[in-house]
Amino acid sequence: TNTSGMAVRLDGLTKSFGAVRAVRGVDLDIAPGEVVALLGPNGAGKSTTIDMLLGLARPDHGSARIFGREPQAAVAEGLVGAMLQAGTILPDVTVGELVDLFGSLHKKPIPVEEALERAGIADLAKRPTNKLSGGQIQRVRFALAVVTDPELLVLDEPTVAMDVEARRSFWTTMHELTATGRTVLFATHYLAEADEYADRVVLMREGEIVADGTAAQIKSRVAGRSISMTLEHAD
Ligand code: ADP
Ligand code: MG
Repeated sequence: TNTSGMAVRLDGLTKSFGAVRAVRGVDLDIAPGEVVALLGPNGAGKSTTIDMLLGLARPDHGSARIFGREPQAAVAEGLVGAMLQAGTILPDVTVGELVDLFGSLHKKPIPVEEALERAGIADLAKRPTNKLSGGQIQRVRFALAVVTDPELLVLDEPTVAMDVEARRSFWTTMHELTATGRTVLFATHYLAEADEYADRVVLMREGEIVADGTAAQIKSRVAGRSISMTLEHAD
């Protein structure tokens, strides 16, 4: 039962690692169909927030709900597709096999061919996963996120290893998906990416949400602050 009607509801989320207060009382509601960028410099607490949303990290205080459910329940139901921060080691199988395996863990996977198509890597089905470029690995990880046809996509710095062209093509694919009413939360430290692809930008700094609004509103707020440089697009 989703009494709030929200796709995502974070309530007072808080987590420390030893003396580091990574996330400090984050409240965030995301309505179904919204595309939200979680923007902030390295160390702002974006990944820790996302890990708690997905049930991969336990909050010290507060709670996370996805369509009114506990994170683990929502993930088990196939409601969520996730791309975690890069660095995951892929096993020695082909791209098609890996996506098929991942989809088979869920009740209603979409066909592997369609997942690969959506990720723009239909031609990589037979490629061993240990023979991929950085940008291709990101697209495989995206295919793993969409193979369950999730209502909510959670993407942690999805374009980090991609060149400018791959990045643009990735967002085109994303746009096609979000046109069908999916909800998306993506973390980025690129202001330009948040500006271009999100309906709404949530700015995090030192574990707290310091601004929440349209990209234009956030840009005018960031402009007056010293953090503007660290948020500029690397290209
Ligand atoms: P972001 O994703 O915005 O770069 P993180 O959530 O990864 O930020 O990190 C927030 C803070 O928490 C940083 O100071 C980081 O060093 C610290 N941190 C994150 N994960 C751990 C961990 N597993 N152990 C210790 N410190 C961590
Ligand atoms: Mg991170």
